[in-house]
Amino acid sequence: MEKQYEGKAKILYSTENPEVLLTHFKDDATAFNAQKRGTIAEKGKINCQITVALFQWLESKGISTHLIEQSADDQILVKRVKIIPVEVVVRNLAAGSLCRQTGLEEGYKLPFPLVEFYFKNDELGDPLLTRDRLLILAVASEEQLEQLQSLALSINQHLQEFFASCQITLVDFKLEFGIDSQGQILLADEISPDTCRLWDQTEKDPQARVMDKDRFRRDLGQVETAYQQVQKRVLDKLASDTYFFPDNL
Ligand code: UDP
Repeated sequence: MEKQYEGKAKILYSTENPEVLLTHFKDDATAFNAQKRGTIAEKGKINCQITVALFQWLESKGISTHLIEQSADDQILVKRVKIIPVEVVVRNLAAGSLCRQTGLEEGYKLPFPLVEFYFKNDELGDPLLTRDRLLILAVASEEQLEQLQSLALSINQHLQEFFASCQITLVDFKLEFGIDSQGQILLADEISPDTCRLWDQTEKDPQARVMDKDRFRRDLGQVETAYQQVQKRVLDKLASDTYFFPDNL
């Protein structure tokens, strides 16, 4: 297998099939545009498992993803796609850069889900883009941007509902999309505690409730435990869902 690309949290390899790539999830963790680095024990396996579970859940709701199958604890086989160089962020509650840039208080419930597009460019520090800047940069056509917006909102609805049933609040998250050889837009990359803000509804304390990468970013400790807890709740929820896993009947 030949390494195609190594990112901060994953490595992509080619396979014998030119249409198929293998994604390996690493234990490495980075934050603040890789200025802070570390490792989170078992993160690769945990994030792989959570991504597979959530992508399968979304597929069952009619969202097309690049996932083919899980091939090892920390590896998935995916359809080769051309990644659209935008990070699509959806926010339900104010947190992170939204608070820093607007002064909104952390946890403020937004009147509607906010969809934002950031330019996927580490050198430029992933800046927030306006719609016209997106069109000028030609990262996607106007029609594709409309599609991304509506896919992001629909994914948000499904994920919010799913996490709520695990007693987790989906504060915000980042999505990436790719275009396959037929020109279809597919959800790509990962959905995990690395890419979402997730708050434990059973905890009121603003630090204790954090179940995501903010524990690493803000040195809150218990990072692995939090990731494991998300994994457990997600998998337990799916296992108890007889519609999703009919074999459990
Ligand atoms: N996010 C991500 N990768 C990035 C930037 C953001 O996965 O390169 C996720 C982040 O984990 C959070 C959401 O997108 O769930 C919104 O992040 P925000 O813009 O608030 O950035 P931050 O405060 O993390 O700099």
